[in-house]
This record gives sequence, structure tokens and C-alpha cells, in this order.
Amino acid sequence: MHQRPHVLILSGLDPSGGAGIQADIQAVTALGCHPLPVISCLTVQDTRNVYGAEAIDPALIRQQLDCLAGDVPIHAVKTGALGSAAIVDVLVDFMQCRQDIPLIVDPVIKAAGGGDLADDHLVQAMTEGLFPLADVITPNGIELAQLGHDDDTEAAARRLLEAGCPAVLATGGHGTGPQIINRLFRTGTDTQEWRIDRLGGEYHGSGCTLAAGIAAGRAKGLPLEDAIERSQYLVARAIDQALTVGKGQPVPDRS
Ligand code: PLP
Repeated sequence: MHQRPHVLILSGLDPSGGAGIQADIQAVTALGCHPLPVISCLTVQDTRNVYGAEAIDPALIRQQLDCLAGDVPIHAVKTGALGSAAIVDVLVDFMQCRQDIPLIVDPVIKAAGGGDLADDHLVQAMTEGLFPLADVITPNGIELAQLGHDDDTEAAARRLLEAGCPAVLATGGHGTGPQIINRLFRTGTDTQEWRIDRLGGEYHGSGCTLAAGIAAGRAKGLPLEDAIERSQYLVARAIDQALTVGKGQPVPDRS
């Protein structure tokens, strides 16, 4: 018998298998960790867009978290779509007495196709309650502009840091240009930057894969910068061998 580091995942179910909890489970497994998956919401979606979502009862999620925590050591937590503000509150409560566990927050607000995955109450609960407890948050350009109330990447990231978020990884996957630039902002240290050649197109679930891979690295005890770097390799490989699943975006192959 052997053990692997455990990553608790709280995210939504995407039945196309491209994004959400399936992406997280695959990324965490590919990097040698054992996923502990808790579903926040069920979505109606294909590889093109999200058409609906229904949040799970927060009381049930609280029971699942408490039940797990009573039995299983948790080495990192990763969140994606969170379903409702009430679910965010449950997680904040859970993490408040577990602040030694690295929490990776992918602040999912909208699907690439434009479908909503968070309302204003959820965004507020996440910004005020969850971000201060995070090890790092991983917004894409659209999410960062909305959360930091500024179209300028650095200004938006700095605003989130000032509001109490310890680290912001501004991801460049949804941008344009020959290279993807991911930038890590932290209070009191220089900005770090990673550049990766961009393959054409958008890939369903690439943001989920990156954040889940970072959580796996942190669960293994890697420093944040190393966890980010390793996860970027995973994303690059998964995109390079992406699968055609439906008529919309290809799906990164994280196997
Ligand atoms: N989580 C769920 C359940 C989703 O449906 C989506 C997008 O559709 C995402 C997360 C975010 O996906 P991406 O990694 O492409 O940003």
C-alpha cells in the first residue's frame, strides 16, 4: 500500500468532460495526487457553452466536507465554479480553521462561450470571504478585469492584493498574441512571468487544468512558483494532444 497527497476539489460538473470537476480530477491525478471531489453545481453544457446550472444544497456540501475532514488528511484545496454564495460561505467557514492548507481559487465566473457560472452574490462572497484565505487565485483576463475593476492587468491584480488576496496569477490563455504570458503578482515581491508559445484556438477546461495542477504541486509541498511552472507543462502537453469531443472547443487531454 502507498499514499499520495490529497487534493480536495470543490467545482462544478461539466457533462462534456472538458472543464469543471472532471478536468480537475484528471489534472490532479496526472500529477500524482489523489483527488477528493465535491461537486458544487451541476451544469447543462456542451463543448460550446453553458446553458444552465443548478447549485447543490450547501448543507449537503458542509456534511461532505466535515465527513471527509474527519477521516482524510487534506494537503491542498482547489475550487472552480462554486454554484452559489451560500456554498462559498460554507467553504470559507471550513477553510478558516484550516489556514495551513494551500487553497487555490480559480475564480470561475463565465464559460468561454459566455454562459454564466456565478451571480453577483457569489462573486462578492468569493472576493470578500475566500480570496483572503487563498494561497493564490488564478483569474483569466476577463475575470481579472471584472474582479479588479480595471482592464489593466497589473492595476486589477494590485487592487485585489490591496483587498487582502495574498497572490494573483493573471493567466493569459484567453488573450491573443504569439505567446501566453502568465504573471504572478504578490505584495512585496517582484512580479514573476512565464511565457509559453500559444497554440491556436481556445481549449475547454484549460484554466481548470492549470489551477488543479497548481493545487497538486502545492499538495506535494512544492513552492508556489514551482507548482505553477510544473502545471504549465501539464497544460501545454494536454493542449498539444487535445481531443476533439464535440463541435465546439477541443478538450485538453490530461491523461
Ligand atoms: N467549471 C465549470 C463547471 C465550467 O463549466 C467551466 C467552463 O465552462 C469552467 C469551470 C471554466 O472552464 P475553463 O477552464 O475553460 O476556464
